[in-house]
Amino acid sequence: MTFKALGLAPYLVRSTAKQKYMEPTAIQEQAIPVILQGKDVLGIAPTGSGKTAAYALPVIQSLERLTTTKNRHINVLVLVPTRELASQVNEVFRSFSEELPFRLKSMAVHGGVSINPQMMGMQHLNVLIATPGRLLELKESNAMHFESLSMLILDEADKMLNLGFKDEMDRIFSLLPKRRQNLLFSATLSPEVEAIERVLLNTPEVIKVEAKPVDVALINQVAYSVSLEKKGPLLRHLIKSNEMKQVLVFTSSTYQADVVAEKLNKNGIDAKAIHSKKSQGSRRDSLTKFTNGKLRVLVSTDLLARGIDIAFLPHVINYELPRSPKDFVHRIGRTGRAENPGEAITFVTEEDTHHFGVIQKKMKRKVDTLDSRTLDFR
Ligand code: AMP
Repeated sequence: MTFKALGLAPYLVRSTAKQKYMEPTAIQEQAIPVILQGKDVLGIAPTGSGKTAAYALPVIQSLERLTTTKNRHINVLVLVPTRELASQVNEVFRSFSEELPFRLKSMAVHGGVSINPQMMGMQHLNVLIATPGRLLELKESNAMHFESLSMLILDEADKMLNLGFKDEMDRIFSLLPKRRQNLLFSATLSPEVEAIERVLLNTPEVIKVEAKPVDVALINQVAYSVSLEKKGPLLRHLIKSNEMKQVLVFTSSTYQADVVAEKLNKNGIDAKAIHSKKSQGSRRDSLTKFTNGKLRVLVSTDLLARGIDIAFLPHVINYELPRSPKDFVHRIGRTGRAENPGEAITFVTEEDTHHFGVIQKKMKRKVDTLDSRTLDFR
């Protein structure tokens, strides 16, 4: 398949060649023609699948039809969870806009920097890429108008929800014109994402692209047999004696996540729990600090951990086993993403032994299980 065959205009086909894209990725092949037809799309695609170009290319082409915007009116809004993604997406729009036969202006806005230059930049803007909080601030200061908006894109919707942006997102949706094309991209399809989909999308085309399978061979794994009451001391011992700086710990319940984080803090190890019962602000704060390396331990349940996207995590600890072997591989897969292999440690109580055997069989990998009693800790 070629980019031309997907219905893209010659000036965009030239841009893809300039970017050295040989052929469309799976999500691009499926999403581009549908978006060009003006349909709503629900794209389930992981980071790295080429999803940004999958929407940026047809969005740019659709802008050719639009007349010049009125002052401070925007045509396309892309909502993203983080400032890093905002800048990345803007770069993609810019790189594809170099050869256009029409004018296109895009800008990224996010918190943590002065709002004034962003307000000034709203002049004759077509595509605004924004984090939800800063977008609302700009709207409240009357810096922009939504009346000419015809496309809304939610990028990494699951991460936005995990960061606690649900209220801000709902407020933004209520401000937008009803007639518009909606594109929703998410790495996973959680009940929260489905709820957004129901209110936002109009009989969408659902496009699903599988994540690259985790290469379990890349991950250093070790397990410790441990009694229930020694799990806490073992966790502290491993973090301290190995001088772990960024550790993701998994528990199977929200209650356990709180207990584990509290005990770590009591023992001088900076930790926060993240799960569905935490407030939105707290979730956002913990996740940002952890991804920026300012929080040593994040204790999480499986559900919320899906939105944590860090290129490389050095340590994952399974404080409790997940029920499904699939979740186990998903958890530890975070340490095997880069060339530099990370380490996954699993705690196994006597009761877990059989289930851990099943997990090892399913992932086709035997894990050495050491007796934690041979370690020197209390
Ligand atoms: P994304 O999933 O949008 O974050 O994209 C991941 C990476 O894939 C980016 O570095 C893109 O430049 C690159 N990319 C996107 N589409 C293609 C393609 N068709 N061929 C090669 N690389 C691509």
